[in-house]
Amino acid sequence: MKHILGAKALRKVIAGALVLFSAIAVADEGMFPISDIGSLDLKKIGLDLTAEQIFNPNEVCLVDGICRVNGCTGSFVSSKGLIITNHHCAFAAIQAASTPEHDYLNNGFSASSNIEEIPAPGYTVRITEGYEDVSTKVLSVVKPGMTFSERTKAIEKQQKQLEKDAEAANVGMRAEVAEMFTGERYVLFLYTYIKDVRLVFAPPASVGNFGGEVDNWEWPRHTGDFSFMRAYVAPDGSSADYAKNNVPYQPKRVIKVAAEGVNENDFVMLLGYPGRTVRHNTASFLQYEENVRLPFVVDLYGWEIATMEAAGKDDRGVALKLSSRIKSLANVEKRSRGQLKGLNRIGFVNKRRVDEEVLQTFIDSDPARKARAGNLLSDIDAVYAEITANAPLEMNLSNLPSACQTLSFAFTVIDAAHERAKEDIERESQYTDRNYPLTRQRLQLALNDFHLETDQLMLAEMLRRLEAAGATKLLPTVAGELLGGSETERQQRATKLINNSKMHNAEFAMKCFDMTPEQLVSTKDPALVLMSELYPVYLAQREKNKEREGKLSQLYGLLISEKREFLKTAFVPDANGTLRMTYGRVESYSPEDAVIKTPITTLKGMLDKVTGIDPFIAPPRIGELYRAQDFGRYVNPKLNDVPVAILYSTDSTGGNSGSPILNSRGELVGVNFDRAFEATINDFAWNHAYSRSIGVDIRYVLWISDKVYGAKHLISEMGIE
Ligand code: ASP
Repeated sequence: MKHILGAKALRKVIAGALVLFSAIAVADEGMFPISDIGSLDLKKIGLDLTAEQIFNPNEVCLVDGICRVNGCTGSFVSSKGLIITNHHCAFAAIQAASTPEHDYLNNGFSASSNIEEIPAPGYTVRITEGYEDVSTKVLSVVKPGMTFSERTKAIEKQQKQLEKDAEAANVGMRAEVAEMFTGERYVLFLYTYIKDVRLVFAPPASVGNFGGEVDNWEWPRHTGDFSFMRAYVAPDGSSADYAKNNVPYQPKRVIKVAAEGVNENDFVMLLGYPGRTVRHNTASFLQYEENVRLPFVVDLYGWEIATMEAAGKDDRGVALKLSSRIKSLANVEKRSRGQLKGLNRIGFVNKRRVDEEVLQTFIDSDPARKARAGNLLSDIDAVYAEITANAPLEMNLSNLPSACQTLSFAFTVIDAAHERAKEDIERESQYTDRNYPLTRQRLQLALNDFHLETDQLMLAEMLRRLEAAGATKLLPTVAGELLGGSETERQQRATKLINNSKMHNAEFAMKCFDMTPEQLVSTKDPALVLMSELYPVYLAQREKNKEREGKLSQLYGLLISEKREFLKTAFVPDANGTLRMTYGRVESYSPEDAVIKTPITTLKGMLDKVTGIDPFIAPPRIGELYRAQDFGRYVNPKLNDVPVAILYSTDSTGGNSGSPILNSRGELVGVNFDRAFEATINDFAWNHAYSRSIGVDIRYVLWISDKVYGAKHLISEMGIE
């Protein structure tokens, strides 16, 4: 990209770009870290709280009432550790507890006392207690002359060391270092960490997942996507694994439930743990997403979902086993379709390319800057060109164990055997002493949901895909022998391997965790033999990924600092699973010409959608209560109906699921659970015109819990009289 412009023309370009960039910057950077809340004019945006009332490490504050529940968010709504989050966030716990005889997924679940609550193994809850900028400490380990892979490993090791030290100094707490700006800013967060979490209340899927995948990522919406869980600790208040005599956790702060809800145009804010956004990434990255990765995900996941749905069609036991996997794949598959449509609709790759040409002109206009960053953009482009060239084989290899569970179990125990032989600090994070119990527990849980016939089909299909991606020439002998021949032969080989493996036998699999790599091979289990042979291929890939990560980390670090200088503005860091605040209003939007979508749905609207065919079935009692107009105090007087879902202009992404929707006083008026289809591209760019988040109105939550399912004890536990 070479530009020869006169000084005047250049000034014009830069001025234009400043307008363009700052317009984007103001609107799209809405997930504020708690450290940045103080820099906002909270009064002006509509809040009646001060920054200290939201977060203050020395006093009780709003943040003490917000927690992370696995990859989601939740709020403490009673002094006895009661958490409100989404139905889809508790889904794995509901599913794990369900059998065809006790089908909590289909029928719902309500514990009438603490004793009846169901343990949710694999669930953890964390509460942000404090943070510290550790950028200097992290980056002090980066030395000149390091390869990119050495750089990544040195940073990872230092992060682990800082986490270990912080946990030693704060016994019982969990420490995590998060990268706020790639290669530039790192913050250590301290969390209260709770390991005993239980299911308290879940509506049936016909409420909690009403509309299913047809309505997922769409507005209007009528899903009662909420559930209640409870956090437990040891009798002395310390964090403990599940034990019968554990006691409910006492949060420092309870989020007040505002049963009166919200109306159109009202201010709302979310506090939560958004997972990942990539708003500073280049046009070449977006092109890779649009042309390569997202279409791959749509295609593969679409096939996997259809296969699992067919497997469970006439067998509720199988359907239950596969339901969590189907749900999370379907969520990503549809989001990816939304992102593809969105990227195309707004011509995002080209837009970003134009922005980059302007930035390049700015860089080239100063000799020192040019020497420092002249090749920056083309260097980043080269990384994505290399990733793109290798994508077909790499993506299929990395999806082989995620599609085929037997191979996933085999890979985990082989990887563990290699990694556990190293010193703790040198291990991949999931095998460090602090994470290993959870890694084992997750495998145990996945084993419970294993379905033999599905796994046979998955393996055969992945072999076909690997072959089409050119794997035959590259893979070693055992793996190579599985490829080639007709579809029937491939299926026969896959079926034989899965049938002959004991990796899906829980007792055998757990025993494997105590074996060395050599002992694992000597079992002659075909899955272990295959994955041991492929292990060097996966290790080489891991190394390559670290190399790319190291390179991109350095380059993006430089890109952000050049952009910052160019735009003379501070950026809000991309989402990274740490606590953020975003605000907006309950408001309508126009997704396309001549269409305006209003922001509140109702019970009547829900019943109008009912066809009696899944996913548009409603429990009969809802219709009965509606016909009797029995809304109780949960009515929205303006609508003379119970409001079901609301739409608002906050900046959210995955991980904000379960986030409290708070009014200007910090009271709970709903629970966030989704975004509109157009807002799936929030991960790349946010825009006030079409980025809308979706939540369930608190009045629907309370009406369902109280009137429909009679959980009056929960209503009074939340202090609603
Ligand atoms: N429903 C979404 C999810 O679970 C939440 C979001 O991404 O906004 O990923």
